[in-house]
Amino acid sequence: MSTPKIWVLGDGQLGAMMRYAGQPLALDVQPVDIMAPSAKTLPLAEQDIVTAEREQWPESATSRQLSEHQNFINGPVFGRLADRFSQKSLLDKLGIATSPWVNVTQTTSATELHRQLGDKVLLKRRTGGYDGKGQYWLYADKPDEVPAQWHNAAIAEQGIAFDEEVSLVGARSRDGRCHFYPLALNLHQDGILMASIAPLPRLNSLQTQAEAMLSSIMAELDYVGVMAMECFRVGDTLLVNELAPRVHNSGHWTLTGCHTSQFELHLRALMGWPIAPLVPALPVAMVNLIGVDWQEQWLTLPGAELFWYNKQVRPGRKVGHLNLNVTDAAQLTCTLATLKTCMPAHYLAPLNWLGHELLS
Ligand code: ATP
Ligand code: MG
Repeated sequence: MSTPKIWVLGDGQLGAMMRYAGQPLALDVQPVDIMAPSAKTLPLAEQDIVTAEREQWPESATSRQLSEHQNFINGPVFGRLADRFSQKSLLDKLGIATSPWVNVTQTTSATELHRQLGDKVLLKRRTGGYDGKGQYWLYADKPDEVPAQWHNAAIAEQGIAFDEEVSLVGARSRDGRCHFYPLALNLHQDGILMASIAPLPRLNSLQTQAEAMLSSIMAELDYVGVMAMECFRVGDTLLVNELAPRVHNSGHWTLTGCHTSQFELHLRALMGWPIAPLVPALPVAMVNLIGVDWQEQWLTLPGAELFWYNKQVRPGRKVGHLNLNVTDAAQLTCTLATLKTCMPAHYLAPLNWLGHELLS
């Protein structure tokens, strides 16, 4: 059997996990550092497939070669979703619930935004934001204005007093069929994902609603592969917060919690291969390792699997994650207690949250 090589635009942890997922299937997955100074023309064959692990990329000879390949999957989708203006416009067009928003133009004032969107308004840069970067809050009771450099470069959203945040990760195959994991419950701190839990039975009642939303988005875009949809839950209703046309941090639980991980799912969809039902094997609590040094103690935790990205540790930077397989309460109690002793103070709230959701 001659299989095409799969090239990944980007060589971060998502590309690495995709490469790892390809190995048992004998799929040659090649993440590419698009800014490598020594970059030569890549030996791309006509039948090869190109995917991306990021929504946006700088122009380089390498990124151009990859994104102009005839089998660059979902090519036009990236630009459309990477800009919050066109992403929100797409949701509106499809009639999918999302936080009320307006475009920030040259003349948009804070007063006008508060009049249209309420007391709490969140400015989000149209492109390039991640992990809560590229956000600016405006409060009606604090004198403030739209910062100069945010005009014509941001959208403004109503601040949503949501109950909690969930996300749906799924894939659309080449034949148009959609496949979904159960919803994940996510905890963000300062705009950055700290921890996820999936599956969680109490979220089952939202599954159909979420799947209908993401199905219609992926169908509209004629999308192939894995996409993630982040949502706010407000009562029984989901509001889409944002879409990511790629494998996603809130889907990392599938590396240990499901027979087909999100990375393998993406590869199968790209290849047009069959996709078996995505039945979780066991619940997982995923803890992101953010700005923390490698600790041998993580390896002593029973039922825990460490994914270390081999990146330089910097404050606020995701450098790995731990998947805690939730098989019995006593073990999880013990694991959370150990983590509380070895993790920095800002992990106390996420670890307590995991205990509350999974043990009470
Ligand atoms: P990501 O790293 O997921 O791409 P991001 O920084 O690009 O994130 P968002 O996902 O839009 O941007 O926002 C990050 C977090 O900020 C959300 O998960 C949520 O906790 C909070 N947030 C975003 N939009 C709103 C809103 N309209 N109202 C209240 N909180 C919000
Ligand atoms: Mg987000």
